[in-house]
Amino acid sequence: MNRSDALAEAFLAELSVTDDSHPNTYHAISDVARDVLTVEKNDPAWSAARVLRRLSDPDRILSFRVTWEDDNGDVRVNRGWRVQGSNAIGPYKGGLRFHPSVNEDVLRFLAFEQCFKNALTGLPLGGAKGGANLDPRGLSEREIMRFCQAFMAQLEPFVGPDQDVPAGDINVGAREIGYLFGAWRQRRGLYQGSLTGKGLSYGGSEMRIEATGFGLVYFVQAALAEQGHDIKGKRVAISGKGNVATHAALKATEEGARVISLSDTSGTLVAPDGMSPDLIRWVQERKARGEDLSDPPKSDAAQFREGEVPWDLEPDIALPCATQNELDASMARTLIDGQVEMVAEGANMPLTSDAARVLRHAHVVHLPGKAANAGGVAVSGLEMSQMSQRRFASAEDVDASLRSIMADIHARVSEEGRGTGEIDYVRGANLAGYRRLAKAISAQGIL
Ligand code: NDP
Repeated sequence: MNRSDALAEAFLAELSVTDDSHPNTYHAISDVARDVLTVEKNDPAWSAARVLRRLSDPDRILSFRVTWEDDNGDVRVNRGWRVQGSNAIGPYKGGLRFHPSVNEDVLRFLAFEQCFKNALTGLPLGGAKGGANLDPRGLSEREIMRFCQAFMAQLEPFVGPDQDVPAGDINVGAREIGYLFGAWRQRRGLYQGSLTGKGLSYGGSEMRIEATGFGLVYFVQAALAEQGHDIKGKRVAISGKGNVATHAALKATEEGARVISLSDTSGTLVAPDGMSPDLIRWVQERKARGEDLSDPPKSDAAQFREGEVPWDLEPDIALPCATQNELDASMARTLIDGQVEMVAEGANMPLTSDAARVLRHAHVVHLPGKAANAGGVAVSGLEMSQMSQRRFASAEDVDASLRSIMADIHARVSEEGRGTGEIDYVRGANLAGYRRLAKAISAQGIL
């Protein structure tokens, strides 16, 4: 066992979370621990401050009942949470997810990752994540509104522009943010930037909706440029059909790549010659209506493959943009057999630890989500500044800022990850995020 593995093992044995009790949190912390503990050990101030130990335990976990009434007048009960990871470098910031799979473990891992991601942006943003174990499929517009109001009735005291600023995530888009913001504003009696992802008519930023997917492509372009390559003509396989997946597809297509797939839980839409922007917009419409991707328009020569994932399509670049742990070791081997050059994470932690290990051994460039999908939170940071200044930037200006932030993140991460050979982006992202957090946490005393 090498030194970093030995340090990580001793460190993990001390945590209250285990692989059995909190598999996602344990996975996220152990991956970071292997990269950063040797650096922490070598810095007396960071080591004495026990920076990673503190980051591994969120500042607080809020857990609450959400009681609401459905259209039949029946009382429904869900559980909501907000995990506030760290506010050492800025107000807590991170999305809300409404999905039946949401539990404390999922939100703890997401909040932990968010602390590092937000540190990488260079903006003053702490890390948090929240949500509820709600299955919104089949709910009416009014039911969604009542649920959002009931959720915010519980969370309102803990949210505010200098306190905690939630945003969207899976199944929380512009509509839900509107209801959540309205409920917060009414309860608090203040018009402030308490959430991001707001509509343009009430304090939102241009480009926030597109930012994660567009930023992912900008990050991929920066990594390709590092190798003297270009995205033009590359075959790009994307999983997911939501906000991140479809905006990455639109931007990659615009930049000259051939997007050969999008997918959902029922199967994969395959377009061997590349998707047209119209086909990608058709996917967005299906998603908005809660429909799957069967029966694509005939004109696009696309096929729906029920129950399949897109990783056997021999892409040059793979963009997993659906959810955590969606790509396992055998799928990683399939990608390698198909000569994949780069895997860039649009989703948070879409690769299992084993899949990441398989890619590393095969020397496939692996761009981790905490760097590659940071564009969304970066534009949220810009939305917070615009809202407090009451001055709003044009789409062109926000897009230019997004490009420049993604280029800066790439520069920071590649500098940290540059060893003697190829760049290790996973290690680079962990170290660059950690250093910023460690400086702030060790400077602020024992808290
Ligand atoms: P959306 O709710 O817009 O879309 C998620 C889509 O993924 C759904 O259509 C769902 O399909 C599909 N999906 C879920 N599981 C699978 C699976 N195993 N295989 C294929 N498709 C699947 O979510 P977002 O696009 O906002 O988020 C996607 C990921 O990106 C998440 O990990 C999120 O945390 C991350 N992310 C999002 C950011 C944002 O700004 N929105 C920012 C940074 C990261 P179905 O319709 O069948 O349920």
